[in-house]
Amino acid sequence: MLYNLSMHERVQDITPEKPVRRITRVVKVGKVLIGGDALIVVQSMTATKTQDVEATVGQIKALQAAGAGIVRIAVDSRRDVEVLAEIRERTDAVLSVDLQENWRLALLVAPYVNKIRYNPGHLHHHERDKSVRDKVAFIADAAANHNCAIRIGVNCGSVDPELANRFGDDTISPMVESALEHCQILDGLGFDRYVVSLKDSDPKKVVEANRRFASLMPDVPLHLGVTEAGLPILGEAKTRLAFFLLLASGIGETLRVSLTVPNRLKTLEISTGYQIIKDVFEGKVPQTTFGETEGFNLISCPSCSRVENEAFVDLAERVAETSAFAREHQIDVAVMGCRVNGPGETDRADLGLWCGPTHVNLMQKDKRLGAFTYEEIIPRYKEALNRLITERGES
Ligand code: SF4
Repeated sequence: MLYNLSMHERVQDITPEKPVRRITRVVKVGKVLIGGDALIVVQSMTATKTQDVEATVGQIKALQAAGAGIVRIAVDSRRDVEVLAEIRERTDAVLSVDLQENWRLALLVAPYVNKIRYNPGHLHHHERDKSVRDKVAFIADAAANHNCAIRIGVNCGSVDPELANRFGDDTISPMVESALEHCQILDGLGFDRYVVSLKDSDPKKVVEANRRFASLMPDVPLHLGVTEAGLPILGEAKTRLAFFLLLASGIGETLRVSLTVPNRLKTLEISTGYQIIKDVFEGKVPQTTFGETEGFNLISCPSCSRVENEAFVDLAERVAETSAFAREHQIDVAVMGCRVNGPGETDRADLGLWCGPTHVNLMQKDKRLGAFTYEEIIPRYKEALNRLITERGES
């Protein structure tokens, strides 16, 4: 382990009076440059249903007007691809597409976007007889033929299962290893127009994973993010803490702040991103320390077009209110909008809720406590939370 962030490391130990940016190679994404001496690019993702073209174009324009350098869109089906062509015609924003298991869609989306994000952990599900290398080669080919960049987007909730098993309780090494493995694959294919992200919902792990990766691959631009950071106040605090430590030491060429907010407030992700950058470069130290993010911890995804029910943001807020009495307890609760990253993230939390179209799945680690309607779920969640506190002898 090259870096070990001590529990006692306080953010005050690093005062970025003059943060010195490292110089990575430059990755061109449409008209935007990431890396080199370019300004840090702030980006976000649409949370409207991709097939609702009107709403999606409206959100892209709002994000662009707020200063988003790149806007990401989720594309999961051929129907999503068809509307992507229409979306492309109606905006000049620099677009990135978010692929999940369906890696073959890369060929269909590449003509309409400037960057393709794939998650290495999701390349193990479809067509298992085909090697991961061949799947990456397919994506890289599509990107190269259509002038697209790539993001290798490693996510803690969906890391390569073989790497996760190999490292046991160490959840940082599998992320770093996965990113390194995919850099090697792309380098071997002669494709160097890529950036990397290593996201976790724990800001401390984000700092360590990114520092370790940056020390090993200093030339590769990093996209920073604390995934599922949560509702605005705590979500911003966690993100600010991680970004402060990374940006102050020169790491981070582009970033996204993930906040659980309704669609009308989505531009908050952009304004918060710019504010954090400004504060870091003005030497303002965050008020929160890692220790303060370690009591009751609510993780919630920022939602995207895959969200199963629009009641999700309201659900996350109701879970936060219901949990107020437990704030002194060391408990992680994850509230997730769909099954894509939902089960992975809820398995890691003490209690988890992941949304289906009509029901919410209530989990205690990987044990399913039941599926309840959006009306029924809160009392059931409160029962489970009380039971957990009692079982731990903390009531
Ligand atoms: S968990 Fe699902 S809804 Fe939430 S951001 Fe991830 S993919 Fe989107």
